[in-house]
Amino acid sequence: MAAKQENPKKIIIFNTGGTIAMEVDESTDSVRPGEKQPLHTIEPMLSRYAAFEMIDLFNMPSPHVTPADMLALARQINEYATRPDTSGFVVTHGTDTLEETAYFLDLTIATNKPVVITGAMRSSNELGADGPVNLIQSVRVASSSESKGRGALVVFNDEIHAAKYVTKTHTSNVATFQSPQVGPVGTITKKTVSYSQPPAVRTQPFEIHAASRNVPLIKMVTGMDPAWFLWLLQQKIDGLVVEAFGAGNVPPAILPIFEQLTVQGVPIVMVSRCYNGYVQDLYGYEGGGKQLKKLGIIFCNGLNGQKARIKLIVALEAGVSETQLAELF
Ligand code: ASP
Repeated sequence: MAAKQENPKKIIIFNTGGTIAMEVDESTDSVRPGEKQPLHTIEPMLSRYAAFEMIDLFNMPSPHVTPADMLALARQINEYATRPDTSGFVVTHGTDTLEETAYFLDLTIATNKPVVITGAMRSSNELGADGPVNLIQSVRVASSSESKGRGALVVFNDEIHAAKYVTKTHTSNVATFQSPQVGPVGTITKKTVSYSQPPAVRTQPFEIHAASRNVPLIKMVTGMDPAWFLWLLQQKIDGLVVEAFGAGNVPPAILPIFEQLTVQGVPIVMVSRCYNGYVQDLYGYEGGGKQLKKLGIIFCNGLNGQKARIKLIVALEAGVSETQLAELF
């Protein structure tokens, strides 16, 4: 338990919605936002751990969240971060798109102060509700000096994950957030917050003023009909993210479309449908990685499709040039 101090620095908690802010309505057997924000009832318990201020920014289910909302949140954090009485941040968020918001913040927050994102798999009035404990653990992580300079962190089920690698892996289990390939960066016990990995080197945060670039994410499937892509060629898109097969291969029928998009100057970023391993220019057959590399498709490792899309939106908004884009991924 943190000792009380005179005029202590505060953790700012931004509530944005999600199951952590919802309740089960027995009469309709549905989970939805209640009349009151239930997180305020935890405030007396939270105050035993740190000084904080809780701000209700939005109250949205996370499938409603857009990159523009993520930018609004990043701006709030960047503004509050300049205040000397603020020591860190916790964001409560729906779990469905939590990883996208976390990564967006990772790319755009201009502060070394800790930024932690959390949520819940069980709503506030469900048996074994995980929201209160996740929020308390998040405040503890945000209060730790070891959490500084680590970009955005996701805290769930006593684990700390880096925004870049974490992903929602289960529809209902409280241990849903995992970082395939790298594991958690730290853990939380009753008495400690400890890190097992050093902070990743962060590049300069991107400074952006909008988040409205149109970047679809398309998953490759067997026997894919190129007609869908022909339709795509007629749309105004700013970039494309493709979840390719295995080590980075696509059905051959899709190649002419990629060619046309590259001629139109649309950047194409490729990740794998597999959540472990790397995309590489390995295969020399029609639609294989070798051909895709030659076409100028950007191979992206370490990010899943939804996060590669967030990065491409942010990079395009920041005015990153075509040649710099390849290096960035
Ligand atoms: N559908 C909810 C949301 O993302 C799930 C959650 O919060 O866990 O808002």
